[in-house]
Amino acid sequence: MSLIYDLHAHSTASDGTLSPAELMQHAHAAGVNVMALTDHDTTAGIAEARDTATQLGMEFIPGIELSVTWDNRTVHIVGLGIDENSEPIQAGIKKLMEFRQWRAEEIGRRLEKAGYPDMYEKAKAYSNGRLIGRVHFARALVAAGHADTVGAVFKKFLVGGKPGFVPGAWAELGDVVKWIREAGGRAIIAHPARYDMTRTKLRQLIADFKELGGEGFEVCSGSHSKDDVNTMAQHARDFDLLASAGSDFHGPENPWVNLGQLAPIPQGLKPVWHDWH
Ligand code: AMP
Ligand code: MN
Ligand code: MN
Ligand code: MN
Repeated sequence: MSLIYDLHAHSTASDGTLSPAELMQHAHAAGVNVMALTDHDTTAGIAEARDTATQLGMEFIPGIELSVTWDNRTVHIVGLGIDENSEPIQAGIKKLMEFRQWRAEEIGRRLEKAGYPDMYEKAKAYSNGRLIGRVHFARALVAAGHADTVGAVFKKFLVGGKPGFVPGAWAELGDVVKWIREAGGRAIIAHPARYDMTRTKLRQLIADFKELGGEGFEVCSGSHSKDDVNTMAQHARDFDLLASAGSDFHGPENPWVNLGQLAPIPQGLKPVWHDWH
């Protein structure tokens, strides 16, 4: 029997809506056999997720999704199989958190200037005192009646050119790959079809990433169409990258993305888990 993998998902430790334990229960109920937790820029949920996954008899992969600024854009790099106590990755996380905190306050100031006061405090309440991200602002802006959906908030407030947009100043690609490798993990380019990049630009990113020690490419993602999977599979073959599969699940309120329901890894690719068992 082939195993069901889901190697990209979020909990309340970042911008998901299920606690780490609830996320693992949800994955188990969905039939997942090998489940990763990959919160944005934090390992805070790993211990709880590992405990629950172990109790349920599910294999757990400790992970993270790190924010990177490359060529003036934000790119996400997933690390899988990391030792969360590794010192370099924790030092990196600390710096990312400092930027996140400053950015959140700055988003609040910019929204206030645009006529939407108190949004930093409201977003902070949604983050439960943990990592604060744009999704928390989005939930707060919806609750305050400034837009109907989280997606609409992003379009109206939180992307380039909109009043609450603050450019990313995240980590360097080379540093992030290094932290993941030093923590014993494998670095993977997350949801590669979601970047607003030309084919040439994406291949530049892949070439840089490979040269810096990156190994994997998220060919199968909850946010990839069938065509995306095929196109991304070709890039993975061309650059001899390991193929990964992850839903990027953030919670059950997004019914179009479910845990463990990913397209199979296309022919001619080596899965990132080829040497795990
Ligand atoms: P941050 O790292 O705080 O800048 O937030 C990035 C996160 O925002 C992503 O991981 C998604 O969860 C969410 N996100 C980004 N763009 C959108 C969008 N257009 N609609 C809904 N959620 C989005
Ligand atoms: Mn997210
Ligand atoms: Mn991402
Ligand atoms: Mn993600």
